[in-house]
Amino acid sequence: MTASTMMDVPLTLDALADRAERWMGEVEVVWRKPDRAVARTTYAHVIGRARRLARALVSSGIRRGDRVATLMWNHAAHLEAYFGIPLAGAVLHTLNLRLHPDEIAYIANDAHDRVVIVDDVLLPLLAKVIAAGAKFERVIVVGDGAATVRGGSEIGATEAYEAVLAAAPEDAVLPVLAETDALGTCYTSGTTGKPKGVVYTHRSTLLHTLVIALPDALGLARKDTLLPVVPMFHVNAWGLPYSAAMTGAKLVMPGPYLDAPSLLELMTTERVTIAAGVPTIWIGIRDALDAPGAREKFPLQAGLRMVVGGAAAPEQLIRDFDRLGMHLIHAWGMTETSPVGLVSHVPPDVAVDDDAQRYFIRAKQGLPTPFVEVRVRTEHGDVPRDDKTTGEVLIRGPWIAASYVGGHTPERWTDDGYFRTGDVGRMCPRGYVQLVDRIADMIKSGGEWIASAELETYLMGHPAVKEAAVIGVAHPKWGERPLAAVVLRDGQTATQDELRAFLGAKFAKFWVPDAVVFVDAIPRTSAGKFLKTALRDQFRDRAW
Ligand code: AMP
Repeated sequence: MTASTMMDVPLTLDALADRAERWMGEVEVVWRKPDRAVARTTYAHVIGRARRLARALVSSGIRRGDRVATLMWNHAAHLEAYFGIPLAGAVLHTLNLRLHPDEIAYIANDAHDRVVIVDDVLLPLLAKVIAAGAKFERVIVVGDGAATVRGGSEIGATEAYEAVLAAAPEDAVLPVLAETDALGTCYTSGTTGKPKGVVYTHRSTLLHTLVIALPDALGLARKDTLLPVVPMFHVNAWGLPYSAAMTGAKLVMPGPYLDAPSLLELMTTERVTIAAGVPTIWIGIRDALDAPGAREKFPLQAGLRMVVGGAAAPEQLIRDFDRLGMHLIHAWGMTETSPVGLVSHVPPDVAVDDDAQRYFIRAKQGLPTPFVEVRVRTEHGDVPRDDKTTGEVLIRGPWIAASYVGGHTPERWTDDGYFRTGDVGRMCPRGYVQLVDRIADMIKSGGEWIASAELETYLMGHPAVKEAAVIGVAHPKWGERPLAAVVLRDGQTATQDELRAFLGAKFAKFWVPDAVVFVDAIPRTSAGKFLKTALRDQFRDRAW
């Protein structure tokens, strides 16, 4: 008997491109342009243009495995690059435009990006990136003013994206892809150490695309209209654009406008049924919807779902959106995990009126998606599923990185093939993972560990608190003590004593921060998460 009884069809992006073009061709792709106007096209049009881009790249000497970078907001041309670059056999490298130009230059050079496709409105940034040493052979500019815009003398010659597509030879032959070929690369945001590259293959991307669309994952279907607020340069917008193309969900993209009123307007006019972004985006949306008259102004789709990840979704945020008639889905992932690894849905045996249990579960990071294995481990082995004992979360699966580009930090992988996430968590008897902190953010006070993230997510449940971040600050007696930086909600007041008492009712006394400082804003990472390193710098020399 032969070993294989099924067709050996590789899992490559052409399958998704063909499907979107043929069977989902008329489905709309909508985006907001830099001049705020809303533009629209279709999957058929996007894929047709993606193939043109692929032919243009191949005919200009881009070879299999070459890296082609993008420096763009979320819009249709970026989606064309998502398909066109891999269809050319090249590797899509989405540069994070929120990083410092020096860091973008480092990342572009580390990846050996040959070409960059850039939004005209980002040419000033690209000029800084090139001045910082980034070396691209070609700069292709997307946007209405593309042919004439010059971002600065550093950039040198540019080509207009439309002209590049128009000149693509019809007879250029696209390579036959293998499922193990690299499809894309992303760099970790690197709050500690240099950013490290992760390479996604066609196979890993297709499997991830398929699984995240499942009902008990992020649940995406043809009837949906999806708004990825999460940038396409942040872990490929969590893989959602590919899943939208696969399922035939209408895709709505915000362009450069990520403020709450612009998002709410798009969600209303385009009848968005599912959106995705980091908690800080949804905190802003909640507050905007709570303003007088907002709900009449923005009549959103009933039951609108919001995928929240990248940082913990506070339980209160989940409750607040239920009150507003919207359903928050909590998911966890990392650049190294493509990113979706865990998603939390309430199992059917939990009573519909058992609010306490339902919110408790929904605020957890969740169960592993199919094909992903998760362990919570200490030096003594896997922790019991008692929802108490904590350890490091380890993960493996077909879309989990097996190494970094250049083989950096091989110690992040265990001998039995798991990736060490650097996240600390516990597991409940059902197997749901609850994260308590990043290892690097844990606070050691008098020899005992305090989980800063647990404190801050709870603090964000106080009615007066909009945002909270807790850090450890050096202390002469205890080694380190927690300090909470708090942003109050508009028009609300609270004192340090009140907030300490609020925490004291829930946590051990030694966990309660010694100080609560009220700030106007909490510094953010390029992905919109709290930037604790900056906060620690700010309070480093605090005298207790
Ligand atoms: P990045 O690679 O930049 O996407 O960051 C990944 C890290 O973000 C994870 O290791 C977690 O520390 C954090 N993270 C992502 N999703 C969640 C979540 N749902 N809850 C808590 N932390 C999260």
